[in-house]
Amino acid sequence: MHYDVIIIGAGSMGMAAGYYTAKKGKKVLLIDAYDPPHSEGSHHGESRIIRHAYGEGLSYVPMALRAQELWDELQESTNELLFSKTGVLTVGAPESEFILNILKSADTHSLTVQKLTSEEIHDKWSGFLVPDDMIGCFEENSGVLFSEACIRTYKNLAVENGAVLKMNTKVTGISIVDGTVTVEIEQGSIKGNSLIIATGKGTPDILAFLGLTLPLQLVRKTFSWLSQTKVSMVPIDSRHLPLNFQTSYTTGFRV
Ligand SMILES: Cc1cc2nc3c(=O)[nH]c(=O)nc-3n(C[C@H](O)[C@H](O)[C@H](O)COP(=O)(O)OP(=O)(O)OC[C@H]3O[C@@H](n4cnc5c(N)ncnc54)[C@H](O)[C@@H]3O)c2cc1C
Repeated sequence: MHYDVIIIGAGSMGMAAGYYTAKKGKKVLLIDAYDPPHSEGSHHGESRIIRHAYGEGLSYVPMALRAQELWDELQESTNELLFSKTGVLTVGAPESEFILNILKSADTHSLTVQKLTSEEIHDKWSGFLVPDDMIGCFEENSGVLFSEACIRTYKNLAVENGAVLKMNTKVTGISIVDGTVTVEIEQGSIKGNSLIIATGKGTPDILAFLGLTLPLQLVRKTFSWLSQTKVSMVPIDSRHLPLNFQTSYTTGFRV
């Protein structure tokens, strides 16, 4: 079989690419070393925050807003619970670049962001005690994506649209000759016109097959689960309230 598009890595990025390219009528093959969603990828865990007013820089905002449109569309068309509009609270020093970028993003793109003092944060969510010299930015239209459910949904839709999945399959080589891509797997070789590499942390190894290197640094990000002892800690108006602490880049979800 000769494919229009071969996608290596079927996690958050690859599975979405698989669905959207298959939906466009392309013959798509998705290959993954595991069977996403799984615990070895960056997507592991129930939830991820989606923010619109970006602390990392204004250039992300149009992409975040477009992504939100697509998530809303996907949720509506599938009736799956993929996104919960909980709002997101980011806490940090008022003069920090992150907080300034959030406020500038909101201003430039007319996003609803409420600026709160530490006292106002405590009044609104009694469990949160924020140092007096910090402020909060509460963005009410953003929230939580149920990341593993998102991948499962993309997977089902990709297959419905004719994509072929080869899961638990290791790629052992890639070559590109005269515009044809050949991907080697343990069971043989597969050919296609285009290649999408969406292998997350596995990208340096995959690129090495093509003699390519990128200045990538793998960073381990860990989860911690803290139990709460007092009911008063619970933000009363949401099941999940993502909280971003910009002092230590800690992100918290109440679950
Ligand atoms: C703890 C944590 C918290 C995060 N929080 C947020 C958040 O709140 N908001 C947010 O927007 N982002 C967050 N992120 C980042 C987000 O989860 C990632 O950016 C996203 O999941 C990356 O998607 P990906 O497709 O690149 O990688 P993955 O989802 O990891 O997919 C890569 C896939 O490639 C496969 N693969 C790798 N190597 C090979 C190979 N050689 N052959 C075949 N397949 C291969 C893997 O098996 C995997 O399935 C967080 C990440 C972590 C780890």
